[in-house]
Amino acid sequence: MKLKHLSTGDLLRSAVNQKTGLGGKAHAYMRKGELVPDELMVDLIEDQISKKGAGSGFLLDGFPRTVVQAQKLDRMLQRRKQKVNLALKFDLPDEIILKRLRGRLACPNCNANYNIYFSPPKKDNLCDNCGSKLAKREDDQEEVVKNRIAVYRRQTEPVEEHYRSQKKLVAVDASVAASELSKQIEKIVKKDSSLSGLN
Ligand code: AMP
Repeated sequence: MKLKHLSTGDLLRSAVNQKTGLGGKAHAYMRKGELVPDELMVDLIEDQISKKGAGSGFLLDGFPRTVVQAQKLDRMLQRRKQKVNLALKFDLPDEIILKRLRGRLACPNCNANYNIYFSPPKKDNLCDNCGSKLAKREDDQEEVVKNRIAVYRRQTEPVEEHYRSQKKLVAVDASVAASELSKQIEKIVKKDSSLSGLN
């Protein structure tokens, strides 16, 4: 699959680490589990999409998270003669979200993710890919995770309707193992006729 992975969370965490202007503005929201303002996020995505070129397309991870972001993304892509093909919604009960994030360890260098319960690193606390020391994300603390879920319900869930009305929303059962979920996602993406050339 030749889609370019663009994760707004990864981009923001790297801006925070590099102490850029965007990082400084975003950090206060991120540490509380609140959303970074739409105008900052839309500029970030537009910049990334322009920089990376159209290529075979993008997998946008964590964007759009509000209806305003979804509307602005549609317009931005229309100007570039591109479009959103699919919107994937991961269904997962809150208690599993809490357990997964309680056990999550992330690599601050290459962004690889591990889980102490389900997919631990080969060597304690070290990234399998690059050997860096793994860390807990500061927004994976239980109280912050609960707020992130509440923010999702309030601000992101309405985005479902935006894509449902365009017949682009596909729900996925995310309670299965990560390897199984990857297979399912690949199947869905390949089935989409407009993406079927991307093998
Ligand atoms: P994630 O890595 O996707 O869980 O994102 C981590 C945090 O970055 C979120 O809790 C937000 O504070 C911020 N963030 C990431 N993507 C967005 C977005 N599309 N809109 C607003 N804030 C975002």
